[in-house]
Amino acid sequence: MSDSPLKKALRILFTFNLYERLNLFETFPWLKQFFSHRRNLLLVRSAGDLVFAGIILSGLFGPQDPQRNVALFLAWGIWWTSVVLSWFFVGKLWCGFCPFPGIGRILQKAGIGSPRPVPPWLRKHGPSLSLILLGAIIWAEAVTGMRSSPFATALLLLGILMGATIFGALYQGQSWCRFLCPMGKIIGSAATISMIEFRPDAMRCRKCTTFACRKGKEGKLGCPVYLGAFNVRDSVDCLVCGRCVSTCDQNSPRLNLRNPFSEMLLNRGKSLAYRYIIPFLMGSQLARFAQGKEWYEVLILQSGVSPAAAFTLVLALGYAFFWLLIRAGSLLLPCNTRLGQVSTMAAVFIPIGFTGELMYRLEYFLQDAGSFLPTWGRQFGVDLNAWGFTVATSHIQFVCLAVLALGAISSCTTAFLLNRAEFHGTLPMRRSFMLALMSAAVFAIYVFFFVATPAPHPFS
Ligand code: SF4
Ligand code: SF4
Ligand code: SF4
Repeated sequence: MSDSPLKKALRILFTFNLYERLNLFETFPWLKQFFSHRRNLLLVRSAGDLVFAGIILSGLFGPQDPQRNVALFLAWGIWWTSVVLSWFFVGKLWCGFCPFPGIGRILQKAGIGSPRPVPPWLRKHGPSLSLILLGAIIWAEAVTGMRSSPFATALLLLGILMGATIFGALYQGQSWCRFLCPMGKIIGSAATISMIEFRPDAMRCRKCTTFACRKGKEGKLGCPVYLGAFNVRDSVDCLVCGRCVSTCDQNSPRLNLRNPFSEMLLNRGKSLAYRYIIPFLMGSQLARFAQGKEWYEVLILQSGVSPAAAFTLVLALGYAFFWLLIRAGSLLLPCNTRLGQVSTMAAVFIPIGFTGELMYRLEYFLQDAGSFLPTWGRQFGVDLNAWGFTVATSHIQFVCLAVLALGAISSCTTAFLLNRAEFHGTLPMRRSFMLALMSAAVFAIYVFFFVATPAPHPFS
C-alpha cells in the first residue's frame, strides 16, 4: 500500500531524502487546473498590474514625505519582503504572476514592434549584465535612501517595467526575463533552496515528438524563455508561468514538493551566479546592517569619507571577505568538487546568505508595519492615527535573529549533508565540522553587525 500524501510530504521534508518528490499536480488536481486555464493567471496578473500602477503613480505624483505616501511600504515592506519570503516556499513562482512583462506581451500580441530572435550578445553577456544590475540596485538602495523616496522607488519599478517592455518589443518572448532581469536572477538563484520545483517527467518527454511546451501549438504560445518544460533541470531560468501545462498533451510538467536541500546539494552550488551572488549578497548585507550603527558612523566622522564611499568600502571588504572564505572552505573539499571557478563551498553559505536577505527585509517590514494605516490615512485625508502601532525593537530583533539562526542551522546541516549524502564518506567528518564552524562564525559576525548599538542620528 502506498503512503498517504501527508506521510510522503513529511518524509520528503524531514528525512533529507534528496531524490524523492511529491507531484502536487497529482495530489491537488485543482492546482493543475489553475495553471492550465490561462484566464486564472490573467486575473491574478491584472490585479497585480493595478497594484503596481498604483504604486508607480503614487510614487511619481503623490506626496514625497515618507510619512504620507504608502507607495514605500507597499513596494519595500509588503511586495519585496513577500517575494523574498516566497523564495523559500514556492521558489520562482512570483515570476509566473509578475506584472512587469505584461506590456511587452501585449505589444507582441498586437503585432507592434518587430520582435526578432534573441541575438548572441544577449545570450552571452545578459547573465553578467543582470548581475551588474543587481549589484547596482542593492548599492543604490542603500546609498541613495531609495526606501525613503517614493519618487526613486517609482523610478526603480518603472526602470524594470521599461526594460521588460523594450526587450519585449525588440525580441521574441521574454528575453528580459531570461537574460537580464536582476530580480529574476536573484529569485532564480534563491529558488534552488525552495521546497517546490517545476520539472518535467523525463520518461514522458523522451517519447515526445511535438515539443509543444517549447514551440507552442494551435495558437497557444510556447515557452516565453525559450526553454520548454523538457529543458528545465534547475530552478534558475523557468518562470513557473505554467504555459507548458496547457500545451503539453503528455501530462509531463509537474510541480513537485521536494527537500529544500535537494537542488543545492545535487547541483553542488555549480551555478556560476553563486560565484558572484553569494559573496556579494552577504558582503552587502554586512554593509547594510552596519549603516546607522554607532561604530560605523564614528568611523565615517573620523575618516571624513562620505556615507556613500564608506558603504562602498564596507561592501567591497565584505565581498572580499566572503569570497576568500569560500575559497578557504573549498580547500577542505575533495578536489573533484571545486569545479574550476565555482565551488560546492558556495552551497554551504547559500542558506545563511538568503536568510540574511530575508532578515534585512523583515526588519524593515516590522519597523514600518504599524505606521502603514496612519500613512495611508494621511495620504488620502482620513485620520487613521488610532490604528497605528509599534513593534518593539526587542521583538523585531528576536524574529530577525530567529530567521538568521534557521539559515545558520541549514548551512551547518549542508556541511554535514556534504559528508553524508553527497560524497559518500570522501569528506572526513572533521572537515564537515570545520565547514559548520565557518558557518557558525559567519552567524556570529551577522549578529554583531545586526545588534550593534544604533547611532543616535542616523546618516542614512
Ligand atoms: S524575470 Fe523579472 S520581469 Fe521577468 S517575471 Fe521575473 S521578476 Fe518579473
Ligand atoms: S513537456 Fe510535454 S510537450 Fe514538452 S517535451 Fe515533454 S512531453 Fe513533449
Ligand atoms: S518551462 Fe513551462 S513553466 Fe517554465 S517558463 Fe517555460 S512555459 Fe513557463
